[in-house]
Amino acid sequence: MSPKQIHPNDCEKLTDKMCARIKMWSSRNLSYAGRLQLVNSVLMTISSYWCQIFVLPRKVIQGIIGVCRAFLWHGTYSSHKMSLVAWDEVCKPKQEGGLGIRNIHIWNLAAVGKHVWAIANKEDNLWVRWVHTIYIRDQSWVGYRPTQICSWIWKLFCKIKDDLLEKQIDLHSNKYSIKQVYDSLTHTGGKVHWDKVVLNRAALPKQQFLMWLSIRGRLLTRDRLSRLGMSTETSCCLCQSGEETHLHLFFQCSFSRECLSRLMQWMDCRTQHNDLHQLVNWIGRNYKGSRLRRQLYGAVVSALAYRIWQTRNDMLWNQNRISADSIVREIQYVVKNRIQFVGRMSSLDKEWIDAL
Ligand SMILES: [Zn+2]
Repeated sequence: MSPKQIHPNDCEKLTDKMCARIKMWSSRNLSYAGRLQLVNSVLMTISSYWCQIFVLPRKVIQGIIGVCRAFLWHGTYSSHKMSLVAWDEVCKPKQEGGLGIRNIHIWNLAAVGKHVWAIANKEDNLWVRWVHTIYIRDQSWVGYRPTQICSWIWKLFCKIKDDLLEKQIDLHSNKYSIKQVYDSLTHTGGKVHWDKVVLNRAALPKQQFLMWLSIRGRLLTRDRLSRLGMSTETSCCLCQSGEETHLHLFFQCSFSRECLSRLMQWMDCRTQHNDLHQLVNWIGRNYKGSRLRRQLYGAVVSALAYRIWQTRNDMLWNQNRISADSIVREIQYVVKNRIQFVGRMSSLDKEWIDAL
């Protein structure tokens, strides 16, 4: 742990390192899903290391978030353009509607909390013995308050201790796990009904990401663009009737509904829902069949939502129209092949898949 106050300039090396990587990746044409994986793995690994050594200044944390946010949404290391979803939402746990990207600020708190826990448990090391002798003496650590003349870093430790106690973290447990503390600090209990279907492993990562944006209503559909003053045209280019909203595209539009009902028929799935939220809720909660069938239904809906959005873009920008028939055939082929590699399946399910 650093004994002195860390200055934002000290962390320049960290942000420089991140920017250098991102400059290298920016030249590649990565999808949102690809960028998400990189943000998750590499950027968070670099920052987690620093988080465990220093209490990072707010300015540094904001710098790290700025780089991650710009890369995720715009594929570059610096951007002031709008993000489709706020960073705090992206960082929420998956069960609560986020993508589970690490929240650096909370991770830093949980990581530094390990030293607060070590003081509470009087761990046998020089630093812990020193703070007990110099500062705490015979007082209780839980109720301890620093005096005005205490050092900056010590006051900060006491503040972190109070924050952890306020969040009801047990400082006298036998073991301290940064991950567990982080999880209890980030979970608020506000669960969503759709995470398992939307982030279903049977769907491709790019389809999962698009589904996540659609279910949150964050795609730049024509009704949203017009509300933002970026377009005056609001009609759906797939059916030429009706306003292009999320509800319309997924799946009340005659074009997308036709694809959906043909795919549902193909899988012998008898739900009549054509609203994305209701459909996802039905697959995740009300459908009582095998796990594999549920995964297949979820994968087909994700593949279709992705293809509808792609078809809409292709139509809008290139005036290129693809038929419902080829979309249905392509999804049948891709999903049927992919589902066989997702996990173990019963012989009954295998027979059913083979017959599709
Ligand atoms: Zn339409």
